[in-house]
Amino acid sequence: MSKKNITLDGGPQTTAVHAGEFPDPATGASAPNLVMSSTYVTEEAAGFSAHDLGDDSGFLYSRWSNPTVSQLEHKLCALENAEATLCFASGMAAASGVLFSLLSAGDHCIMTDTNYAGVAEIGRDTLPRFGVEVSLVDASNPQNVADAIKPNTKLIWLESPANPIMRLTDLKAIADIAKANGGIKTAVDSTFATPIATRPIDLGIDYVMHSLTKYMGGHGDAVGGSVSGSKEDIAALRLEAGIHHGGVMSPFNAWLIIRGAATLPLRMRAHQEGALTVANFLEAHPKVTRVMYPGLASHPQHELAKRQMANFSGMLSFQVEDGAAVADRMTKELQIIHYAVSLGHHRSLIFWMDTPGLMETSFRLEGDQLDSYKAYAGEGIFRMSVGLEDGEDLCADLDRVLG
Ligand SMILES: *Cc1c(COP(=O)(O)O)cnc(C)c1O
Repeated sequence: MSKKNITLDGGPQTTAVHAGEFPDPATGASAPNLVMSSTYVTEEAAGFSAHDLGDDSGFLYSRWSNPTVSQLEHKLCALENAEATLCFASGMAAASGVLFSLLSAGDHCIMTDTNYAGVAEIGRDTLPRFGVEVSLVDASNPQNVADAIKPNTKLIWLESPANPIMRLTDLKAIADIAKANGGIKTAVDSTFATPIATRPIDLGIDYVMHSLTKYMGGHGDAVGGSVSGSKEDIAALRLEAGIHHGGVMSPFNAWLIIRGAATLPLRMRAHQEGALTVANFLEAHPKVTRVMYPGLASHPQHELAKRQMANFSGMLSFQVEDGAAVADRMTKELQIIHYAVSLGHHRSLIFWMDTPGLMETSFRLEGDQLDSYKAYAGEGIFRMSVGLEDGEDLCADLDRVLG
């Protein structure tokens, strides 16, 4: 909503540092202001409905838009090459914002069968409760998505790389299928990839969702989410998911995430370098039976990874013999890596994901879909977010617990 939208023609680092930022016109302050105000003094008597919001409306109330949040939204637009972005209180608020704004009772949604657990559970429990039919498909084969399309298919929800197995989806292939079938809307959770790896809008995807809590913020100290897309789609999302459902981002979190996002390209290079070191170490380790990292030649979709990802990110997963026992040792014996959920921080994080448990709570897969999941995860995997520490130190920490 800021009147001042800096457009830049620079490289990715210049964009990450400067997009959405400008010296404060009142004081000359070089760093972004933190504007905590919930309301704004207006110069004209205007209507107080979300429907009264115009393109050039000033700030009215911070659930509509806020100057600091707006600066982050501009930065994210520049990074994603999107016309518009809306920030949310969390990644889950961003995901549910898209799902509950776009889908109505009687609609059909195609969702990838392996993705972030919270979104997976909305697809299996909440959407059906509201009368939305959901087909869960293994989207790593685009034909599965094409085959699932029905006359009332309204949305295709993807995630690449997918939590927790690093399975990839060919985003362009699926965007093309959606367009060829009457312009079905497509959305991707791009949290693991970041715009440094993949810019889904350039590939024809309509909505790009992020948990900003992860790589964008990058420091594990601010929860947030975003959705980027066309001006028209995001204006509709702001009206319903933002202004009406109300899960909007706090300006303080926006201010922290602006600071984090400014170094995203640099950090992603370092995450990739560390992840490659750790992935190669693990692949050579006698106790490790399988490593899943898009940057390894052994990843079953390495060719797609090279085509679709300009950076392989810092997320990897691996299988070991006796995983549950190793997980128990990790909680006690790791010295550098934190045994904790979440990802994308400067600190390395690791967590055990037991296949039977995950099937019961989140994924509930059977038959071919279960077999495909197990081809990546076996009976369980460690999901590791490789941080910004020295790769050799991380390898030594893992070696100690792997024995
Ligand atoms: C963390 C995460 C989410 C949820 O984001 P929150 O900010 O924790 O609400 C969604 N998708 C992926 C891939 C995530 O890693």
